[in-house]
Amino acid sequence: MCAPLPSSKPETDEAPLIFSNFSGVEMRKPFVAGNWKMYKTVAEARHLVAEMVPGLQAVSTVEKVLCPPFTALLAVAALLEGSEIGLGAQNVHWELAGAFTGEISPLMVAEFCRYVIIGHSERRTYFGESDEIVNRKVQAALSQGLIPILCVGETLQERESGQTSAVVARQLRRALNGVEQAVAQSGANALVIAYEPVWAIGTGRPSTPEGAARVVAEVIRPTLAEQFGEVVAQGMRVLYGGSVTAANASQFFAEAEIDGALVGGASLKAEEFVAIVRAAAL
Ligand code: PEP
Repeated sequence: MCAPLPSSKPETDEAPLIFSNFSGVEMRKPFVAGNWKMYKTVAEARHLVAEMVPGLQAVSTVEKVLCPPFTALLAVAALLEGSEIGLGAQNVHWELAGAFTGEISPLMVAEFCRYVIIGHSERRTYFGESDEIVNRKVQAALSQGLIPILCVGETLQERESGQTSAVVARQLRRALNGVEQAVAQSGANALVIAYEPVWAIGTGRPSTPEGAARVVAEVIRPTLAEQFGEVVAQGMRVLYGGSVTAANASQFFAEAEIDGALVGGASLKAEEFVAIVRAAAL
């Protein structure tokens, strides 16, 4: 985690993404987000947040984000007010308003959240989200000042047929098509990328830390550099996601290319999630 960066510093927002260590070298700030998926009623969400906030607050060198279901956003937002813990939605529609029954617009998400997960493999698999849809959502989210946590990753079949690099590069290029202006304005702070191999999500079978770091170094950062230039590519946070637990997190965070984690199952247990955040601390 936290490789030294080129000295040209992109604009930062409230939560500084890049900061200097004691020797004045700029680093990417670790980032850990919890994706609660379709779990937790409002009462359960309140309980879980109350349990984890003190532990999360104690770790100031990590950017922490909770992504509860839509129905719990308002309650969680109230509990997080005044804390340094960010709030994210798990999905968003690509239009700002209209006759889209059951959907939620970026305008509405932005009333509560700073972040939104886009392109999660569960949405791609079960809800037919194509690269084009993911791109429209990324553009819509950026237009409302939201920071997308953009998920990319190959399926087991794609991995076994040697297509990991091609798939991840394609998903990234297509998702980021047309967002150069937003990135030019906010720099590397505009987006967070999550590398989530589909075969590792919710399976209890994570990638190896070295394998994940290789995809980040050899595919994700070069693709970001093609699109946005080297400074942004080196400054943008790239997370690993897929069966991260308190037991394995530090091995992922020991990799210089991995800047944190998108955590599913383990983010539903306060002690476990706090332990993962602690493992990400510098
Ligand atoms: C996820 O939902 O993004 C995820 C990585 O899930 P899990 O940690 O449960 O594998």
